Amino acid sequence: MDKEQVVIIGSGCAGATAAVYTARADLKPVVFEGMEPGGQLTTTSVIENYPGFVDGIDGFELMSRMKSQAERFGARFEYGEVASLTKADGGFEVDVKGRNKIWAKTVIVASGARARMLGLPRERELTGHGLSTCATCDGAFFRNVPVTVVGGGDSAMEEALFLTRFASEVHVMHRRESFRASKIMADRLLAHDKVTVHWNSEVVGIEDKDGSVQAVSVKDTKSGKTRRHETNGLFYAIGHIPNTGFLAKGLVKLDADGYVDTVGVTTQTAGLFVAGDVHDREYQQAVTAAGEGCRAALEAEAYLAANLD
Ligand code: NAP
Repeated sequence: MDKEQVVIIGSGCAGATAAVYTARADLKPVVFEGMEPGGQLTTTSVIENYPGFVDGIDGFELMSRMKSQAERFGARFEYGEVASLTKADGGFEVDVKGRNKIWAKTVIVASGARARMLGLPRERELTGHGLSTCATCDGAFFRNVPVTVVGGGDSAMEEALFLTRFASEVHVMHRRESFRASKIMADRLLAHDKVTVHWNSEVVGIEDKDGSVQAVSVKDTKSGKTRRHETNGLFYAIGHIPNTGFLAKGLVKLDADGYVDTVGVTTQTAGLFVAGDVHDREYQQAVTAAGEGCRAALEAEAYLAANLD
């Protein structure tokens, strides 16, 4: 079995930054890129809030640069999805689908979270063309046009309020007639004069014109009737699903929504560190994920120094 000092699971901002740091520390990290190499940013368009890029940078380009930067110092990126991570012989056994198992002294879990989708036809093609799961990332592209937010939790409130800075009108579609969000956030939303809330409204279809979102079909959950609602932007804010299915039972604690419960970037298991959206339910930004990747790398380096074989 191949033996590694550091295995990083996930190649988004957190994983790639952890790779830059551990590679520069000459720990020769191996990064398993997962099903979406480069992570969620590769599916967004221009990123305007990552420091240092005055005119913004394409998400795919940013992730390619991070990867090249890490490779320059000796990180190895391997295409592969981790099927399971278990404890073994003072370290961890990493089982990557379709290849031999690897043993690692330390592991940084940066497997991210995926935005929950409604599961409607053409969602994939329309992502980045009117459909988004991140108002902070994409809101500024919707100046003076109507947008629609789906969801009734704190994220939906926050996204909708953020969008009022740009959009001409913000429509919130919620499937029930009361919000799940905290009262303070809900009140703030309901008081905003650009916002219209559509209760008992379920988005059941997306219409596009020349490949960009133009309207949604909305079903009234009480009457069962469907109506057409014109919108240039469609933002899903119906929660995230952290990618933790491969973690053996007992390695980490998960909270009620499946996020890894940590103290900083350390877990209850020595040598196992966590960075980015897989445990950060609050900020979920590229720059915060990168910051955590750095922290996890420094922790892994310190752990290896203190636990020489
Ligand atoms: P959430 O609280 O789970 O809310 C998800 C919302 O999406 C719910 O209103 C839910 O409807 C709706 N939804 C889920 N699946 C749906 C579907 N298939 N079709 C239509 N609607 C669907 O998720 P969240 O808003 O992302 O928040 C996650 C956690 O982060 C929460 O604990 C939240 O308080 C926290 N958070 C806090 C802040 C803050 O304090 N500033 C900001 C963001 C998030 P139902 O209500 O009908 O289930």
